[in-house]
Amino acid sequence: MRQVARKQFILWTENYPQQSGMTPDYHTHTNYSDGISSHHSYLNQASYACIDELGFSDHFSILDSKWSVKAEEIQQMQNHILTIKNMEELPVRIRFGAEIDFIPGQEKNIQALIQNLPLDYVIGSVHFLNSWNFDTDPQNFEGRNIDELYDQYFNIVRRSINSKLYDIIGHIDLIKKFGHYPCHDPSRWHKKLIRSLKQTNSVVEVNTSGLNKPCKEFYPDANFITLCFHSNIPVTLGSDAHEANQIGQYFPLAKEVLKKIGYRQVATFHKRIRKMEAL
Ligand SMILES: [Zn+2]
Ligand SMILES: [Zn+2]
Repeated sequence: MRQVARKQFILWTENYPQQSGMTPDYHTHTNYSDGISSHHSYLNQASYACIDELGFSDHFSILDSKWSVKAEEIQQMQNHILTIKNMEELPVRIRFGAEIDFIPGQEKNIQALIQNLPLDYVIGSVHFLNSWNFDTDPQNFEGRNIDELYDQYFNIVRRSINSKLYDIIGHIDLIKKFGHYPCHDPSRWHKKLIRSLKQTNSVVEVNTSGLNKPCKEFYPDANFITLCFHSNIPVTLGSDAHEANQIGQYFPLAKEVLKKIGYRQVATFHKRIRKMEAL
Protein backbone atom coordinates (compact mmCIF):
# COMPACT_ATOMS: atom_id res chain seq x y z
CA MET A 1 0.00 0.00 0.00
CA ARG A 2 2.76 2.39 0.98
CA GLN A 3 4.66 1.64 -2.22
CA VAL A 4 1.61 2.22 -4.41
CA ALA A 5 0.97 5.54 -2.68
CA ARG A 6 4.59 6.58 -3.09
CA LYS A 7 4.41 5.80 -6.83
CA GLN A 8 1.23 7.85 -7.14
CA PHE A 9 2.82 10.70 -5.28
CA ILE A 10 5.75 10.71 -7.69
CA LEU A 11 3.27 10.93 -10.57
CA TRP A 12 1.57 13.97 -9.03
CA THR A 13 4.82 15.76 -8.33
CA GLU A 14 7.14 14.85 -11.19
CA ASN A 15 6.19 17.90 -13.26
CA TYR A 16 6.18 20.28 -10.36
CA PRO A 17 8.83 21.67 -8.08
CA GLN A 18 8.97 20.50 -4.48
CA GLN A 19 6.14 22.10 -2.51
CA SER A 20 7.10 25.02 -0.35
CA GLY A 21 5.18 26.75 2.43
CA MET A 22 2.29 25.37 4.45
CA THR A 23 0.32 22.49 2.96
CA PRO A 24 -2.78 21.54 4.92
CA ASP A 25 -5.13 18.75 3.87
CA TYR A 26 -8.34 19.57 5.66
CA HIS A 27 -10.74 17.21 3.91
CA THR A 28 -10.31 13.51 4.68
CA HIS A 29 -12.75 10.72 5.52
CA THR A 30 -11.79 7.75 7.68
CA ASN A 31 -13.49 4.42 8.28
CA TYR A 32 -15.63 6.10 10.94
CA SER A 33 -17.70 7.58 8.10
CA ASP A 34 -17.50 6.58 4.43
CA GLY A 35 -13.72 6.31 4.07
CA ILE A 36 -11.89 3.00 4.07
CA SER A 37 -8.66 3.94 5.89
CA SER A 38 -7.99 4.40 9.58
CA HIS A 39 -6.75 7.58 11.23
CA HIS A 40 -3.33 5.96 11.63
CA SER A 41 -3.11 5.06 7.93
CA TYR A 42 -3.69 8.73 7.11
CA LEU A 43 -1.13 9.76 9.64
CA ASN A 44 1.47 7.39 8.16
CA GLN A 45 0.73 8.60 4.65
CA ALA A 46 0.71 12.33 5.40
CA SER A 47 4.45 12.86 5.40
CA TYR A 48 4.88 11.00 2.07
CA ALA A 49 2.44 13.46 0.56
CA CYS A 50 4.29 16.46 2.11
CA ILE A 51 1.29 17.43 4.24
CA ASP A 52 2.10 19.74 7.15
CA GLU A 53 -1.30 19.77 8.76
CA LEU A 54 -3.75 16.88 8.50
CA GLY A 55 -7.39 17.53 9.27
CA PHE A 56 -9.77 14.62 9.85
CA SER A 57 -13.17 15.75 8.60
CA ASP A 58 -15.53 12.81 8.70
CA HIS A 59 -19.16 13.31 7.75
CA PHE A 60 -21.61 14.32 10.44
CA SER A 61 -25.24 14.84 9.61
CA ILE A 62 -28.46 15.55 11.40
CA LEU A 63 -30.03 13.25 8.80
CA ASP A 64 -29.88 9.51 9.30
CA SER A 65 -27.32 8.91 6.55
CA LYS A 66 -25.28 5.77 6.10
CA TRP A 67 -22.08 7.67 5.26
CA SER A 68 -21.94 9.70 8.49
CA VAL A 69 -20.29 8.85 11.80
CA LYS A 70 -22.76 6.77 13.83
CA ALA A 71 -24.09 8.56 16.92
CA GLU A 72 -22.89 5.74 19.17
CA GLU A 73 -19.34 5.99 17.77
CA ILE A 74 -18.85 9.76 18.05
CA GLN A 75 -17.31 9.65 21.53
CA GLN A 76 -14.94 6.82 20.59
CA MET A 77 -13.83 8.66 17.45
CA GLN A 78 -13.34 11.87 19.38
CA ASN A 79 -11.16 10.10 21.99
CA HIS A 80 -9.20 8.48 19.18
CA ILE A 81 -8.38 11.83 17.54
CA LEU A 82 -7.51 13.47 20.85
CA THR A 83 -5.14 10.58 21.64
CA ILE A 84 -3.40 11.02 18.28
CA LYS A 85 -3.19 14.78 18.81
CA ASN A 86 -1.38 14.18 22.10
CA MET A 87 1.15 11.75 20.65
CA GLU A 88 4.75 12.89 20.80
CA GLU A 89 6.89 13.49 17.70
CA LEU A 90 4.02 13.47 15.22
CA PRO A 91 5.19 13.89 11.61
CA VAL A 92 2.33 16.38 10.96
CA ARG A 93 0.04 18.60 12.98
CA ILE A 94 -3.38 17.07 13.52
CA ARG A 95 -6.65 18.93 13.41
CA PHE A 96 -10.13 17.71 14.33
CA GLY A 97 -12.60 18.82 11.70
CA ALA A 98 -16.00 17.77 10.46
CA GLU A 99 -17.86 17.95 7.17
CA ILE A 100 -21.43 18.74 8.11
CA ASP A 101 -24.36 18.79 5.69
CA PHE A 102 -26.24 22.03 5.45
CA ILE A 103 -29.98 21.31 5.49
CA PRO A 104 -32.14 24.45 5.11
CA GLY A 105 -34.38 24.99 8.13
CA GLN A 106 -32.22 22.80 10.39
CA GLU A 107 -29.73 25.49 11.43
CA LYS A 108 -30.41 25.15 15.17
CA ASN A 109 -29.95 21.38 15.11
CA ILE A 110 -26.73 21.74 13.13
CA GLN A 111 -25.49 24.34 15.61
CA ALA A 112 -26.22 21.94 18.49
CA LEU A 113 -24.31 19.16 16.72
CA ILE A 114 -21.30 21.44 16.18
CA GLN A 115 -21.29 22.70 19.77
CA ASN A 116 -21.03 19.16 21.11
CA LEU A 117 -17.72 18.46 19.36
CA PRO A 118 -14.27 19.91 20.25
CA LEU A 119 -13.61 20.90 16.65
CA ASP A 120 -10.78 22.88 15.12
CA TYR A 121 -12.87 23.72 12.06
CA VAL A 122 -16.18 22.91 10.38
CA ILE A 123 -16.67 22.39 6.65
CA GLY A 124 -20.18 23.15 5.41
CA SER A 125 -21.29 21.14 2.40
CA VAL A 126 -24.43 20.77 0.34
CA HIS A 127 -25.01 17.22 -0.88
CA PHE A 128 -28.81 17.29 -1.05
CA LEU A 129 -31.44 19.00 -3.16
CA ASN A 130 -34.54 18.33 -1.05
CA SER A 131 -34.19 14.62 -0.33
CA TRP A 132 -32.13 13.86 -3.46
CA ASN A 133 -28.48 13.15 -2.73
CA PHE A 134 -27.16 14.40 -6.08
CA ASP A 135 -23.58 13.66 -4.97
CA THR A 136 -23.97 9.87 -4.93
CA ASP A 137 -27.18 9.36 -6.92
CA PRO A 138 -26.66 11.00 -10.35
CA GLN A 139 -29.66 9.38 -12.15
CA ASN A 140 -31.98 12.30 -11.39
CA PHE A 141 -29.98 14.67 -13.57
CA GLU A 142 -31.42 13.00 -16.68
CA GLY A 143 -34.23 15.05 -18.23
CA ARG A 144 -33.98 17.78 -15.61
CA ASN A 145 -33.63 21.50 -16.31
CA ILE A 146 -29.97 21.99 -15.35
CA ASP A 147 -30.32 25.77 -14.98
CA GLU A 148 -33.06 25.23 -12.40
CA LEU A 149 -30.93 22.69 -10.55
CA TYR A 150 -28.02 25.16 -10.47
CA ASP A 151 -30.40 27.85 -9.18
CA GLN A 152 -31.66 25.53 -6.47
CA TYR A 153 -28.17 24.31 -5.54
CA PHE A 154 -26.50 27.71 -5.34
CA ASN A 155 -29.41 29.15 -3.35
CA ILE A 156 -28.87 26.44 -0.73
CA VAL A 157 -25.09 27.01 -0.76
CA ARG A 158 -25.70 30.73 -0.24
CA ARG A 159 -27.98 29.95 2.70
CA SER A 160 -25.29 27.68 4.12
CA ILE A 161 -22.75 30.53 3.93
CA ASN A 162 -25.18 33.08 5.38
CA SER A 163 -25.96 30.72 8.29
CA LYS A 164 -22.44 31.46 9.65
CA LEU A 165 -22.35 27.91 10.98
CA TYR A 166 -19.21 27.03 9.08
CA ASP A 167 -15.54 28.03 8.89
CA ILE A 168 -14.96 26.57 5.44
CA ILE A 169 -17.35 26.11 2.52
CA GLY A 170 -16.67 22.69 0.98
CA HIS A 171 -16.65 21.87 -2.77
CA ILE A 172 -18.67 24.99 -3.47
CA ASP A 173 -19.64 24.07 -7.06
CA LEU A 174 -20.23 20.34 -6.49
CA ILE A 175 -23.36 20.46 -8.70
CA LYS A 176 -21.03 20.17 -11.76
CA LYS A 177 -19.63 16.84 -10.52
CA PHE A 178 -21.17 14.63 -13.22
CA GLY A 179 -20.49 17.08 -16.04
CA HIS A 180 -23.93 18.74 -16.27
CA TYR A 181 -23.61 22.42 -17.11
CA PRO A 182 -26.20 25.21 -17.40
CA CYS A 183 -27.05 27.11 -20.61
CA HIS A 184 -26.54 30.43 -18.85
CA ASP A 185 -23.30 32.03 -17.76
CA PRO A 186 -22.75 30.85 -14.17
CA SER A 187 -21.31 34.22 -13.11
CA ARG A 188 -24.74 35.41 -11.87
CA TRP A 189 -24.60 32.65 -9.23
CA HIS A 190 -20.92 33.17 -8.53
CA LYS A 191 -21.31 36.90 -7.85
CA LYS A 192 -24.01 36.25 -5.22
CA LEU A 193 -21.83 33.62 -3.54
CA ILE A 194 -18.84 35.94 -3.49
CA ARG A 195 -20.95 38.61 -1.76
CA SER A 196 -22.05 36.15 0.93
CA LEU A 197 -18.53 34.76 1.41
CA LYS A 198 -17.19 38.27 1.82
CA GLN A 199 -19.92 39.38 4.23
CA THR A 200 -19.49 36.32 6.46
CA ASN A 201 -15.67 36.23 6.29
CA SER A 202 -15.78 32.59 5.11
CA VAL A 203 -12.98 30.46 3.72
CA VAL A 204 -13.38 28.60 0.42
CA GLU A 205 -12.00 25.11 0.09
CA VAL A 206 -10.06 24.20 -3.03
CA ASN A 207 -11.13 20.57 -3.22
CA THR A 208 -8.93 18.61 -5.60
CA SER A 209 -11.09 15.46 -5.83
CA GLY A 210 -13.08 16.91 -8.74
CA LEU A 211 -10.18 16.06 -11.06
CA ASN A 212 -11.09 12.38 -10.61
CA LYS A 213 -14.77 12.97 -11.43
CA PRO A 214 -16.54 13.48 -14.79
CA CYS A 215 -16.22 17.29 -14.41
CA LYS A 216 -12.41 16.81 -14.36
CA GLU A 217 -11.59 20.03 -12.54
CA PHE A 218 -11.15 21.30 -9.01
CA TYR A 219 -14.08 22.50 -6.94
CA PRO A 220 -14.26 25.41 -7.57
CA ASP A 221 -12.81 26.05 -11.03
CA ALA A 222 -9.99 28.54 -11.62
CA ASN A 223 -12.42 31.32 -12.67
CA PHE A 224 -14.23 31.12 -9.37
CA ILE A 225 -10.95 30.94 -7.41
CA THR A 226 -9.86 34.09 -9.29
CA LEU A 227 -13.08 35.87 -8.24
CA CYS A 228 -12.35 34.82 -4.65
CA PHE A 229 -8.82 36.19 -4.87
CA HIS A 230 -9.97 39.58 -6.14
CA SER A 231 -12.46 39.78 -3.26
CA ASN A 232 -9.81 38.85 -0.66
CA ILE A 233 -11.57 35.61 0.23
CA PRO A 234 -9.14 33.14 1.85
CA VAL A 235 -8.75 29.58 0.63
CA THR A 236 -7.62 26.29 2.11
CA LEU A 237 -6.87 22.87 0.61
CA GLY A 238 -8.76 19.58 0.81
CA SER A 239 -8.25 16.31 -1.05
CA ASP A 240 -11.60 14.76 -0.02
CA ALA A 241 -9.60 11.57 0.45
CA HIS A 242 -11.63 8.46 1.22
CA GLU A 243 -8.52 6.32 1.50
CA ALA A 244 -5.07 7.20 2.75
CA ASN A 245 -3.31 7.08 -0.62
CA GLN A 246 -5.54 9.94 -1.86
CA ILE A 247 -4.24 12.33 0.75
CA GLY A 248 -2.83 15.49 -0.84
CA GLN A 249 -3.90 14.36 -4.31
CA TYR A 250 -3.00 16.97 -6.97
CA PHE A 251 -1.84 19.44 -4.33
CA PRO A 252 1.34 20.51 -6.19
CA LEU A 253 -0.93 21.46 -9.11
CA ALA A 254 -3.45 23.16 -6.80
CA LYS A 255 -0.72 25.21 -5.15
CA GLU A 256 0.66 26.20 -8.52
CA VAL A 257 -2.80 27.32 -9.70
CA LEU A 258 -3.34 29.32 -6.50
CA LYS A 259 0.05 31.01 -6.79
CA LYS A 260 -0.55 31.86 -10.47
CA ILE A 261 -3.85 33.46 -9.50
CA GLY A 262 -2.01 35.49 -6.87
CA TYR A 263 -2.59 33.71 -3.57
CA ARG A 264 0.37 33.78 -1.19
CA GLN A 265 -1.37 32.47 1.92
CA VAL A 266 -3.56 29.58 2.94
CA ALA A 267 -6.01 29.40 5.86
CA THR A 268 -5.49 26.98 8.76
CA PHE A 269 -7.56 26.57 11.91
CA HIS A 270 -7.05 25.69 15.55
CA LYS A 271 -10.04 25.57 17.90
CA ARG A 272 -11.98 27.42 15.21
CA ILE A 273 -9.57 30.35 15.14
CA ARG A 274 -8.24 31.09 11.68
CA LYS A 275 -4.59 31.67 10.95
CA MET A 276 -3.16 32.67 7.56
CA GLU A 277 0.11 30.94 6.68
CA ALA A 278 2.52 31.26 3.75
CA LEU A 279 1.41 29.04 0.88
ZN1 LIG B 1 -18.72 16.45 0.53
ZN1 LIG C 1 -16.00 14.95 1.82
